[in-house]
Amino acid sequence: MTDNVREYEVAVVGGGPAGLTTALYTTRLSHDTVVVDRGGGRAAMMADTHNVIGITEDVSGSELLRTARQQVQHYGADYVRRLVESVERVDDGRFRLATRTGDVDFLAEKVVLATGFTDEQPEPPLPPTGRGLHYCLHCDAYMFVDEPVYVMGTGEAAAHVAMIMLNFTDEVDLLTRGDEPTWSEETDRQLRAHPVDVVDEEITGVEKDDDGWLAGFAFEDGAFREYRGGFPMYGADYNAELVDRLGCERNDDGTVAVGEAGETSVDGVYAVGDLTPGHNQVPVAMGEGANAGIDIHYDLREFPKSIDEIEAEGEVSPDEVPGMSDELREAAREFNAAGDD
Ligand SMILES: Cc1cc2nc3c(=O)[nH]c(=O)nc-3n(C[C@H](O)[C@H](O)[C@H](O)COP(=O)(O)OP(=O)(O)OC[C@H]3O[C@@H](n4cnc5c(N)ncnc54)[C@H](O)[C@@H]3O)c2cc1C
Repeated sequence: MTDNVREYEVAVVGGGPAGLTTALYTTRLSHDTVVVDRGGGRAAMMADTHNVIGITEDVSGSELLRTARQQVQHYGADYVRRLVESVERVDDGRFRLATRTGDVDFLAEKVVLATGFTDEQPEPPLPPTGRGLHYCLHCDAYMFVDEPVYVMGTGEAAAHVAMIMLNFTDEVDLLTRGDEPTWSEETDRQLRAHPVDVVDEEITGVEKDDDGWLAGFAFEDGAFREYRGGFPMYGADYNAELVDRLGCERNDDGTVAVGEAGETSVDGVYAVGDLTPGHNQVPVAMGEGANAGIDIHYDLREFPKSIDEIEAEGEVSPDEVPGMSDELREAAREFNAAGDD
């Protein structure tokens, strides 16, 4: 255990859209905040950004995150590139976060888990497709209007996504790659009543167009089928080691059980973004981050003191205000002065 311990009011684990938005709110609402982020994540995989109003499609996920990191740091938050290996409650009720590198620990009153999930990959792995391998239906379906599309997988989600894609195109194949379907009989009936071709043969090759997009797959039976792109549907592997270590309740689907502001079953611990139930979208992750940030502010802010506190501790004296740290005050002064230039 290192002696290098940094103290904050709020520690956010995960620097995707959810965690960075929580940090944006807690910092601008006067609370010392650190974001500890190992880097990568789902947002970083976005080649372009869809469904985020005010952000044009040509902005990549990495660009979006870089700007977001700069924003929260300008407001006075700290951003540290580390993998958080453990979080535990210590004797004074705060949480201690230890990192894999072991060179620095963090102490905080509130912890926000924004660690997301990792998309399960097709097994055996798919040959590299370039563009044409997509993990976000609500982001990318629009790209495939009138284009030939595949959906890959054998579960309920794969069957449903194949049928949903018929809202966008009349050419949808469902590729099971030789595996036995596990979708229900009812789904099977539904599927057979829609013009989706279920292809059982394994994929043996991939062809790309000159523009780098997928052209299609070759199959074991010698057939070549053209596709512009599609969706492997193999589920989510939640980054929930810290959630489980802290004893936060999880739902049957693996998501973390949360209240309206992202409060978990463990007092002082929040979860936001893809780690929680709801649509896996950047604006949703940002909204959850905002809700948690504001809720944390309600809990942590110094003023107004309650009548009970005033009776116990006396009236608030002028030298007790403002209720934010000198560091954050300085950052805010600098930020506001730069805005006046
Ligand atoms: C290819 C792809 C394209 C997409 N396109 C779009 C789109 O166009 N529009 C849209 O709205 N949505 C899109 N999505 C969905 C969107 O990316 C997610 O819904 C969003 O990123 C969720 O945000 P998050 O902050 O919860 O998680 P993430 O973005 O996954 O961020 C989680 C962060 O936590 C970090 N982390 C995890 N464990 C630890 C740990 N132990 N210690 C420290 N850090 C840790 C990760 O490194 C990562 O930085 C896309 C997803 C994919 C995969």
